[in-house]
Amino acid sequence: MMPERAEVEAAAGIAIGDTFFAPEYSTENYTDDCDWCGGDHSVRVATGHHLTCSFCRFGTIQKKRIGNPTARTLTVGQIRILAGKAETKMEFMAYETGVGSGTVYTWGDRAFATAAEAVAAARGTVARLRGEILDRNKELEAKMADEAKATEEG
Ligand SMILES: [Zn+2]
Repeated sequence: MMPERAEVEAAAGIAIGDTFFAPEYSTENYTDDCDWCGGDHSVRVATGHHLTCSFCRFGTIQKKRIGNPTARTLTVGQIRILAGKAETKMEFMAYETGVGSGTVYTWGDRAFATAAEAVAAARGTVARLRGEILDRNKELEAKMADEAKATEEG
């Protein structure tokens, strides 16, 4: 039997038409000269050898600018309580982003009671994504160092 709307709202502690906050941040993709080879697509190593730059294709590099953590104010349009064995999840759909089909916001992950919590979550995501970019750059630097070493030995 489907629970009544009032029962769902009482269980969720939030009602249709109430406000919640979603973390948001901006991403901007752009093309730039490669930082490692300066656009030459070739890097000179200690021995004087030139290696193909691992970071870029033909001297340019796709970069991503991630920032501006903010909170977006949304209005609850649908509430779903997903009761599982291990945990119970609450999901919302918002009038602003579509009810029925659109973005699903999980409480505590992409939906928060206060703007401050949403901004904090957005800051966390921005930091994680920036960290992933730095990790990827470190991997590429290690790869180029290995190639340079192999060239010196060979
Ligand atoms: Zn390069």
